[in-house]
Amino acid sequence: MNRARLALLLRKLPGTVRSFARRFHESGHECYLVGGAVRNLILGNRPTDFDFATDASPQQVMRLFRRVIPTGVEHGTVTVIQGRQTFEVTTYRTEEGYSDTRRPDSVEFIGDVYEDLKRRDFTMNAMALDPVRRSFLDPHEGERDIGDGIIRAIGDPGQRFGEDALRMLRAVRFATELEFDVDSQTLEAIRACAPLIAAVSMERVRDEITKMLQSRRPSVGLRMMQDTGLLPLALPEVAEGVGVEQRGNHRYDVFEHSIRACDAAPREDLAVRLAALLHDVGKPRAMVDDPSGERRFHRHEQISAQMSEEILRRLKYPNRTIAEVIHLVRHHMFNYTPEWTDAAVRRFVARVGADSIPSLVALRAADSEAIAGRPVDSRALGEFVSRVEGRLAAEEATSVRDLAVGGRDLIDAGIPPGPGMGAVLEALLEAVLDDPSLNTKPQLLDIARRYYRERVRGP
Ligand code: ATP
Ligand code: MG
Repeated sequence: MNRARLALLLRKLPGTVRSFARRFHESGHECYLVGGAVRNLILGNRPTDFDFATDASPQQVMRLFRRVIPTGVEHGTVTVIQGRQTFEVTTYRTEEGYSDTRRPDSVEFIGDVYEDLKRRDFTMNAMALDPVRRSFLDPHEGERDIGDGIIRAIGDPGQRFGEDALRMLRAVRFATELEFDVDSQTLEAIRACAPLIAAVSMERVRDEITKMLQSRRPSVGLRMMQDTGLLPLALPEVAEGVGVEQRGNHRYDVFEHSIRACDAAPREDLAVRLAALLHDVGKPRAMVDDPSGERRFHRHEQISAQMSEEILRRLKYPNRTIAEVIHLVRHHMFNYTPEWTDAAVRRFVARVGADSIPSLVALRAADSEAIAGRPVDSRALGEFVSRVEGRLAAEEATSVRDLAVGGRDLIDAGIPPGPGMGAVLEALLEAVLDDPSLNTKPQLLDIARRYYRERVRGP
């Protein structure tokens, strides 16, 4: 890299990065910016988090700064807090062993930055930038690979994936995030080593899948996982959809439809993206070809919801995410038409909850787009959203909480607490969903007494 370009890149770094590195130099140590920050600089993006590599030992780093967290001292990593920023600093090291294809049996701290760069996964991740002496190290030609849009393992790819199987998913994830190709030898090695992914912890698999789903086009990575054989091991239920044709107006098989729905779902909403990936995951198991030649997926949304729960639990997603995704999957099969009455709109809101309407509508739109294979007319869904908003603005009741009477009122009216009362409240909600004008205390108490007498207590 020439001096002018280097100067240009260095200008994109916050001043704190320079002064931070200078502390190392002043005490006779080296300090390089490494990893994602350098990659992002070369890509022309402004980096936001900063990893450093140094010949100073973790203990020496801890003595250099006042506020230091011993994040992973045994592996040489500490986190230094500087004002509002945190910097990860890792002592140059080599790794040895990898008898479990997950983590090194031991790490050895070393003095040579080039040796440290060698143990890193991909050429684009093995560049180092000294912001003080203004030098740029790129022994594996990462800059060239970035220019060509290629992800290439350092050294023998098969051996590197044998050391740490997670690197295979990282390759796919980086290819998705950056929309790069994986070099052909590296890709071939992923195919050969795919079974090793079984040894990687579910949390690490989850984190890579999450990053893929937060990329512009998750389908790139999911298709690559399928091509390389990673998918049946990491997401076997999703792989079941490969080759399962849907007939009717569907253009794609279940797998292709699902990953396209994922692309079409809003990028910033992980739950909706997960729901898009999983909304039809139960179709292969629900599939029945009836004698007329029709292919049916009866109750597939229920089966999909159940399978989604199993998949997301296995991957250790947070409970809140799991609950949101299965709710969306379970209710994704609504088909709004302008003929829906206001009562039908209220009933729908009552069933799915007002808070999930925006996500459910987004999922529905993504689903439609992935059926047709092109953007679809979203006017009907837009109209649906404004009708829901209209009903909510009119403060019409869509849940038991919105009724003009509560449990206390019913007890006062002579209805004893217990399961019978629950049934009465549900009946009141039903009445009000049909006719919102009934939502007044005297009318509801009237209905409640009658319902309790005739349907709960018995004559
Ligand atoms: P991002 O933070 O955007 O995911 P990154 O490149 O910073 O990208 P990190 O996981 O933060 O990725 O790791 C920092 C650096 O550590 C990487 O750039 C790479 O050099 C090295 N590294 C991380 N994980 C591995 C691994 N499994 N094998 C080899 N090197 C790795
Ligand atoms: Mg990073």
